[in-house]
Amino acid sequence: MDLGIRGKNAIVCAASKGLGKGCAMSLAREGVNITMNARTKDTLEAAAKEIRDATGVRVTTVAGDITTDAVRAALLQACPAPDILVNNAGGPPPGDFREWDREVWLRALDANMLTPIFLIKASVDGMIARRFGRIVNITSVSVKSPIESLGLSNGARAGLTGFIAGLSRKTVAHNVTINNILPGPFDTDRLRSNIAAQAKASGKPVEQVARERQAQNPAGRFGTAAEFGEVCAFVCSAQAGYITGQNFVLDGGAYPGTL
Ligand code: NAP
Repeated sequence: MDLGIRGKNAIVCAASKGLGKGCAMSLAREGVNITMNARTKDTLEAAAKEIRDATGVRVTTVAGDITTDAVRAALLQACPAPDILVNNAGGPPPGDFREWDREVWLRALDANMLTPIFLIKASVDGMIARRFGRIVNITSVSVKSPIESLGLSNGARAGLTGFIAGLSRKTVAHNVTINNILPGPFDTDRLRSNIAAQAKASGKPVEQVARERQAQNPAGRFGTAAEFGEVCAFVCSAQAGYITGQNFVLDGGAYPGTL
């Protein structure tokens, strides 16, 4: 299926590894030029080269922390008229809410709520004027089914989701859609470090914890970044113009609800 987005321009945030990189690769395979970001320059350049070599599209990098005004401005300077925006950032740390002060909360809100909102604010009117826009926010299943130790993620991402629910209905008449993709367990560095921490805390070997976690999932495995990227590319396709304000749960069926 041709997704009808060849030659479009995308900004993909936090994209040197994991889910963001999966999205950048899948969009690039559809012929989309990519402007990608992450904090660590070497890893970012290596990922950009991999995507360029695999697809031949134009890949531009902007290294730096996406939660800062300066890096967001640099991204928009590198790609002033994005047709596609994939919002992503590192997830907040786990912990007990009794230990989180205002600064900790503000960091989580900055990364997982305000940064996507500011990037949308900067790009959505141009998309509306050009009558094409696809915005995807990478959030988490914690929005639908809170994870006890991830209160910062539960809270900040729910705030973003509420905001998107309203705005996405205002832009779709202009062929600008805004949707969220909610990952369950995906085999990325972040999940691997969570499993390592769980293994350390429980005294079990890492492989055992990983096997147990996979066995708990109806699919019997973790998702892959490539699978995630393909869904993102479809949500960004020309054909997906009637899909907006949705929360796509990608979790191998782990969420137990009928709807
Ligand atoms: P990952 O494999 O650790 O990759 C994170 C990527 O984001 C890296 O490229 C990292 O590069 C970049 N990054 C992190 N913080 C950044 C910042 N402030 N500015 C710019 N780039 C930044 O993580 P992932 O598993 O793909 O997770 C992506 C998002 O999905 C996170 O918010 C995570 O909480 C959420 N999520 C993941 C899972 C899962 O199972 N994997 C499940 C639910 C939710 P640098 O470190 O070099 O910046």
